[in-house]
Amino acid sequence: MENIISNLNEINQRISAACKNSNRNLSDVRLLLATKTVPPERIKIALETGTTLIAENKVQELKEKYEALKNIPHTNHFIGHLQTNKIKDILKCDVVCIQSLDRIELAQKLHQSLLQKNKTIDVLIQVNTSDEASKFGITPSQTISFIQQVAAFHTLKIKGLMTIGLFSTEEQKVRPCFQLLRRLKEEIATLEIPNVEMKELSMGMSGDLEIAIEEGATIIRVGTAVFGKRATPDSYYWNENN
Ligand SMILES: *Cc1c(COP(=O)(O)O)cnc(C)c1O
Repeated sequence: MENIISNLNEINQRISAACKNSNRNLSDVRLLLATKTVPPERIKIALETGTTLIAENKVQELKEKYEALKNIPHTNHFIGHLQTNKIKDILKCDVVCIQSLDRIELAQKLHQSLLQKNKTIDVLIQVNTSDEASKFGITPSQTISFIQQVAAFHTLKIKGLMTIGLFSTEEQKVRPCFQLLRRLKEEIATLEIPNVEMKELSMGMSGDLEIAIEEGATIIRVGTAVFGKRATPDSYYWNENN
């Protein structure tokens, strides 16, 4: 059994050190726990330490854990591939931000559902910064026109960008993905598109959070380094065919 509390301490120390190294305020970087495959009892241990931002990749898992976690203060984001037939379900689970908005059909259908409920939701635009066919996300060159289209849906509050980046242990391959996302964010901010705020950069995971923080991440998404290795391979969560 992984020691969640000491793992969290270690992650918080890594975040502090990375902030110091890059002259950033600790309060400008939020730790999000990626809780896919993690049972609610283990998520609870983390929540009780005061790390309260969590996210699932699958609506099914979100629903399964919803009741068990309902009475413990926390905030839900969503970081997986969202199928349009799951929109109804996700809107019932108190998700405040969908970090993985990656296609116009999804934006349209979300907007329709939210209009009916007289609700809004925060979204990040997922950008494919690594050019890998198996990963979701808008290509960098299409990101601006995509955002201009999504901005017309006033129930979707665009707060920034998200990327997974290249899955590699080689820093010189990972860093350009994060730099690309940061440059895109800065470019989009200068356009001052109505209904578009470019304040969040969600990037960096267990293995590369230091690089992400150096490149301006405001949200880092950590799973393995807190909860231990997952039995289910990431391809199950990151593959279009699921
Ligand atoms: C699983 C996952 C993470 C966390 O990855 P780890 O390597 O376990 O820290 C981050 N972002 C997304 C989108 C994920 O699916």
